[in-house]
Amino acid sequence: MALSNISENLRKVKEQIRSACLEAGRNENEVKLLAVSKFHPAECVQEAVKNGHFLFGENRVQESCAKFPDLKEKNPGIVLHIIGQLQTNKVKKAVEIADCIESVDRISLLQEIEKQCAKINKNIKVYLEVHTGEESKSGFADFEALEEAVKYCADGNVPHVVLSGLMTMAPLTEDEQMIRKSFRTLKEYFTQLKTKYTQLPLTELSMGMSNDYRIAIQEGSTEVRVGTAIFGQREY
Ligand SMILES: *Cc1c(COP(=O)(O)O)cnc(C)c1O
Repeated sequence: MALSNISENLRKVKEQIRSACLEAGRNENEVKLLAVSKFHPAECVQEAVKNGHFLFGENRVQESCAKFPDLKEKNPGIVLHIIGQLQTNKVKKAVEIADCIESVDRISLLQEIEKQCAKINKNIKVYLEVHTGEESKSGFADFEALEEAVKYCADGNVPHVVLSGLMTMAPLTEDEQMIRKSFRTLKEYFTQLKTKYTQLPLTELSMGMSNDYRIAIQEGSTEVRVGTAIFGQREY
């Protein structure tokens, strides 16, 4: 895709977010846009930065480490979230490069993040990923498993981990009701946990991608993760 489209796409997506917020009776400042740059070269990220965008998401640690050290050095305002499944042996690199890890799906991963953060004396934001749709594979399987991890954080076991939110991927389907149901489930979990664990800074609800972010905003998303609608189709 031509670099010149990125500016226009960003403008369009931001306009869509604004109108979805308006429709839902929400303030547009309540919803952040995470621009998902996976499989797109550093020049695309740089082009987005040129247009005033600084919040990015990447799936893979290796790709993040190839692109972002340089980008971050040139553009100190960049904030990077890791949103893909994370293997334990990649955690060291992940905590070095990222400002937030959204795809935490097991307690052993929290423990490894804590261990690596303690070594470099860094606090890191974390979201817990929840499996809410039949077709998505990753994430905590149900509320019980999720709460166990939340409680683990709330009990002070991982002082370098700042548990800030929940993340989900809706099922890949055209069925709007199924997508909505998935987002509603996450929102319900979020509300319950916020009420019960008031000591945690649980503020972020990361849900919504290129095809469903308007629905996610209607259902209470505070962060939409949009790749294709900004950077174009990925060439795998
Ligand atoms: C790739 C990806 C996105 C962005 O998907 P698009 O459909 O390109 O907007 C969002 N979230 C996660 C977890 C992803 O892996």
